[in-house]
Amino acid sequence: MTRIYIDAGHGGNDSGAVGNGLMEKDLTLDIALKTRDILNNEYEGHEIMMSRTTDVTKSLSARTNEANNWGADYFLSIHVNAGGGTGFESFIYNGSTLPDTPSLRNILHDTIMIHVDWFDRGKKSANFHVLRESNTSASLTENGFIDNAADAEKLKSDDYLNRIARGHAEGLAEAFHLDRKDGGNGVYYRVIAGSFTSRRNAENLLDSLSEYGYDGFIGIFTHNDQTFYRVIVGSFQTRENAKNRVDELKADGFDAFIAVYEY
Ligand SMILES: [Zn+2]
Repeated sequence: MTRIYIDAGHGGNDSGAVGNGLMEKDLTLDIALKTRDILNNEYEGHEIMMSRTTDVTKSLSARTNEANNWGADYFLSIHVNAGGGTGFESFIYNGSTLPDTPSLRNILHDTIMIHVDWFDRGKKSANFHVLRESNTSASLTENGFIDNAADAEKLKSDDYLNRIARGHAEGLAEAFHLDRKDGGNGVYYRVIAGSFTSRRNAENLLDSLSEYGYDGFIGIFTHNDQTFYRVIVGSFQTRENAKNRVDELKADGFDAFIAVYEY
């Protein structure tokens, strides 16, 4: 059982950042609860402890002590930014961390970025209490700027908060290899460089790709009784790795997208 501690930043007397009619403490709680629900509804092999599930005041040390006493395997702290900026960023501790801390955060960060359309402010480190005092790997996400009109507009949308939460939930699921509940063992991610009704066109693309060193194959895909020849350039267990391949292909002038396959 992977023990995940989800910390909804601020709460109670501490509203966190405020702007555009929003309070950070409400948004962090909403995102945290949605993240918990997605993980519990769709995945297994984990336990979740929440720093709070209502609007209560709780000190930072109470949060890290609770997670440490519980023996958490991960500490995730959810926040919303302010102070003049836009977009998403994540933090790990800027001192010494457990060896897995950077890679776990990278999976989380990249998965969130797939689900939101915010500017990527980057993977950062800082001397925040919850990151420093956590005995386990920890990260903190800053989900948009409450004092930025465009970011706040998105934070007012329940649909957008669901997207943010899904990014967090799927990122954790991927980082800790949680199994899906739906009977299958999980999903894999194929990178598709092209989809054609003519096999010849697919073969031509394979040839061009091989000139750039890509080893692909053709997969048959049917949709509405129509057969498509998909040029597949890699299958990956993580979306992050698939996205890296897509980025490589785009850098070489090819178009590509990710298709999710269940097994
Ligand atoms: Zn905050």
